[in-house]
Amino acid sequence: MIKIEFPDKSKKEFPEGVTGFEIAQSISPGLAREVLSITVNGDIFDLTRPIHENAAIKLHKWDDPEGKHAFWHSSAHLMAEALEALYPGIKFGIGPAIDNGFYYDVDLPGDKVITEKDLSTIEQKMTELARQKNKLCRRETSKKEALEIYTKKGDEYKLELISELNDKEITLYTLGNFTDLCKGPHLPSTESIKAIKLLSIAGAYWRGDENRKQLTRIYGVSFPKQKMLDEHLKMLEEAKKRDHRKIGKELELFTFSQRVGQGLPLWLPKGARLRERLEDFLKALHRKYGYEPVITPHIGQKELYVTSGHYDKYGKDSFQPILSPDEKEEFLLKPMNCPHHCEIYRFKPHSYKELPIRYAEFGTVYRYEQSGELHGLTRVRGFTQDDAHIFCRPDQLKEEFIKVIDIVFSIFDALDFHNFTTQISLRDPDDKTKYIGSDENWEKSEKAILEACEEKGLKTKIVKGEAAFYGPKLDFMVNDAIGREWQLGTIQIDYNLPERFELEYIGADDVRHRPVMIHRAPFGSMERFVAVLIEHTEGKFPLWLTPDQVVILPISEKFNDYAKKVFNFLNNYDIRTLIDDRNEKIGRKIRDNELKRIPYLLIVGEKEMNEKSVAVRKQGEGNQGNMKLEEFAEFIIKRAKIK
Ligand SMILES: [Zn+2]
Ligand SMILES: [Zn+2]
Repeated sequence: MIKIEFPDKSKKEFPEGVTGFEIAQSISPGLAREVLSITVNGDIFDLTRPIHENAAIKLHKWDDPEGKHAFWHSSAHLMAEALEALYPGIKFGIGPAIDNGFYYDVDLPGDKVITEKDLSTIEQKMTELARQKNKLCRRETSKKEALEIYTKKGDEYKLELISELNDKEITLYTLGNFTDLCKGPHLPSTESIKAIKLLSIAGAYWRGDENRKQLTRIYGVSFPKQKMLDEHLKMLEEAKKRDHRKIGKELELFTFSQRVGQGLPLWLPKGARLRERLEDFLKALHRKYGYEPVITPHIGQKELYVTSGHYDKYGKDSFQPILSPDEKEEFLLKPMNCPHHCEIYRFKPHSYKELPIRYAEFGTVYRYEQSGELHGLTRVRGFTQDDAHIFCRPDQLKEEFIKVIDIVFSIFDALDFHNFTTQISLRDPDDKTKYIGSDENWEKSEKAILEACEEKGLKTKIVKGEAAFYGPKLDFMVNDAIGREWQLGTIQIDYNLPERFELEYIGADDVRHRPVMIHRAPFGSMERFVAVLIEHTEGKFPLWLTPDQVVILPISEKFNDYAKKVFNFLNNYDIRTLIDDRNEKIGRKIRDNELKRIPYLLIVGEKEMNEKSVAVRKQGEGNQGNMKLEEFAEFIIKRAKIK
């Protein structure tokens, strides 16, 4: 018999060789129908794989990322099975599950090509094969045998992958007539894959190397129920409408120029002002919470980042050093602001009474991302973090943590993010050697985070073993208006940098101590945050933030002068106003300006001019009636206050 420990720490005995599926069945037949994969002592297993030793386990259903992963990964195999049936001689690269489905990279035989038109045929074949309820059978094999199989098959891609594996770690999975090199995990069979949609085709270089062959990448998604697929497709349609790259262009917020360089956003005037308003909002919060502004350069000596450890992480694979012409000193584009802030802390000695010290900077950093990874404002090569570093005593951690959470709450409130989740990442209690810092410090800091979250009433997911080697952290994920989850800010405790930079303060005991550092960037970066905000609001920003708040539409040229008067009047109240005095019909003007997502449209004609009023229309909601000018100004000022 072996002992199986469940996530709630309860234990139960099972015969040796028991499978995840049998464990689920022993709990309830309902669970057994829903479970998709199992974690066994930290490794993810197929449900049909026997467990031979005492193990801590967790069963994964659809709602767990590990469950979806097994489902979509199995779907990639199903697609490969269908492709091999339809295109004999096809060769396969890799076929992983991704965040929203799966793909497979394939090399088609001869002059065959797959286009969008062919996708439905492949889908049909997949559905037909799934109905055969074939099992996914796992088999361990030797490197020699695996090489023989794929030599015979003539698949140079799999041969290359196998050549890089060790003898003991090679497994093959067979599904129907198709066998694949894979480490799993998968569903027991493809029976539960009921709804399939192949979404798109792209070119993908083998191993991401542009000097090697370009393969065909087929993307797809699958679900256990047709209804779930329908909802997903609806969400994708909605996501397309909200794409921040499209809306950013329509609203003239930002652009990119090949001449300036890929992944280097250019903020247009409307976008820059929007960003300034966000920064001002944060700066006001910083003042309220006792942060001091600092400003640091965009480059730093290589040694600085060697000291901080960032060179190891970002150096060799990122932008290469800039050499000074005479001394040949090496400088790097700043990948992180923290080392600079540590040097600012070292400017003078500190006493315990001065702490906490909070340095804030909208610091622009540069990191090399492969061109294929770049995406609008969410993946860029240069971006500005709403960064700050708090240097505090260990006994101040909890209080500081609470204050940072309060800042995050203020931001979510002001920007209408009402749906968010949090995750606390703690160290792995069974393997403390991976982490730097004393046990005592870790216990203190983990306790500080847990208590701070509890005091703020945050329902958090607590994950052991996910902490960085230098400290525990709290992550915020927001769910946008169409249910997508975005990772935003992180609050990270750090014992490492104070050590590396030998930061100190003199304690009440007159002895030198190391401060603790908290890294925090509630937005993440200005670029990413604005992207998320655009996709969340569909470009309909809150009134305080939106580029233009009001547009005046004179009914005809006769009223252009009155429109100008209204403009000046509102301008005096700092209400951001435009006039549309084009010689167009009023209906056309309304339609055009509705599309610009300006919150209020003011129509002015004879009646309005005589009454010194405006006819108010709210974007997307239509007529709101007439208002006197003063009344309208007050109305806007009241609504444009940040919550
Ligand atoms: Zn697989
Ligand atoms: Zn930092």
